[in-house]
Amino acid sequence: MARWEHLDERGFIDLVGRLARPVRPRPVLGIGDDAAVLSLPPRSQTLLTTDLLTDGVHFRTAYTPGLLLGRKALSVNLSDVAAMGGVPHSFVLSVGFPRGIDPAYARAVARGVAGQARRFGVALVGGDTCAARALFVSIALTGVVEPGRAVRRDGARPGDALFVTGTLGAAAAGLTLLEGGSRCDAAGRLKGARLRGRALGGGLRRHAARAIRAHLDPAPRTLAGRALGLTGLAAAMIDLSDGLSQDLPRLCRASDCGAVIEEAAIPIAPEAVALLGRSRGMRCAMAGGEDYELLFAARAAHAAVVARLARRLRLPVSRIGQVLPRRQGIRLLTRDGRYRRLEPAGFEHFAR
Ligand code: ADP
Ligand code: MG
Repeated sequence: MARWEHLDERGFIDLVGRLARPVRPRPVLGIGDDAAVLSLPPRSQTLLTTDLLTDGVHFRTAYTPGLLLGRKALSVNLSDVAAMGGVPHSFVLSVGFPRGIDPAYARAVARGVAGQARRFGVALVGGDTCAARALFVSIALTGVVEPGRAVRRDGARPGDALFVTGTLGAAAAGLTLLEGGSRCDAAGRLKGARLRGRALGGGLRRHAARAIRAHLDPAPRTLAGRALGLTGLAAAMIDLSDGLSQDLPRLCRASDCGAVIEEAAIPIAPEAVALLGRSRGMRCAMAGGEDYELLFAARAAHAAVVARLARRLRLPVSRIGQVLPRRQGIRLLTRDGRYRRLEPAGFEHFAR
């Protein structure tokens, strides 16, 4: 058993279990036995996904409040279930804490996970707790979906329109600020805003706070994903964890299609443009990742219905391009009217 000052393994499990005590859905058997027993709705299919956040790889404790780390660990899993058009149900939480960790930080992680679990009505039903070289938080989440209605990546076909929810690039801009020494507290208040070694002032501080929050506290598109799945509007869908330039090719490969997207139609986050300028903002939108917006293909004839749904959800949805036959590749139509091949790994195209 790992021992930390004032908080040990048992203490952490008791704390997170108490804070996240499931109200709905209630497991048949939750924390405390060798395995949880769940009762999933009848006539449903089960989704199962997992994501791992490791210190030094996905985040740095130096600039990540524990509360937001716990919340994000669940959010990124909720985003995966959203991208399948499902309803999130239950999860297990595995954490590794380095010896000597500040117990207050560990408690904050528990509060972050538990708060987000309540907000999204998902039940914490078990997990594992151990000592580790580097702090990590890993969650595995189940979800449910009507049989055959999960929205996969492979349902796009030539002629479909491509849409993206929200705006792109704020999270990457926020990461740039954090790496440059900016800081935010657990409530999302800016504690210091620095960019290229200089303190930010005035209106840029508001953009900085929003960009940093986008990175530390992304909002999973649970409602939109569910609506797009249930209505059958999304023929194929993926959540944008690695950026358009990587995630669009994934959707295309799965669907055996090509695509063209229009640079002028990409909803670059205003924060990214204000803080970094248009061309770096574009780079953040294309290659930055961690926006956790949804990219989906819908039949072109359904475009007006998609727009109506977006208004209902009060969520901007942008039409950014269309699906093409595979032989046409994956291309970007630039603002000056030229076609360029979209390279999944390289975002050098956007460095001007
Ligand atoms: P085992 O040795 O069977 O893995 P543990 O002592 O690790 O049991 O865990 C005891 C109980 O506490 C189990 O029900 C387990 O699912 C739960 N648990 C352990 N760590 C966590 C955690 N981080 N979050 C939620 N539940 C946890
Ligand atoms: Mg264990």
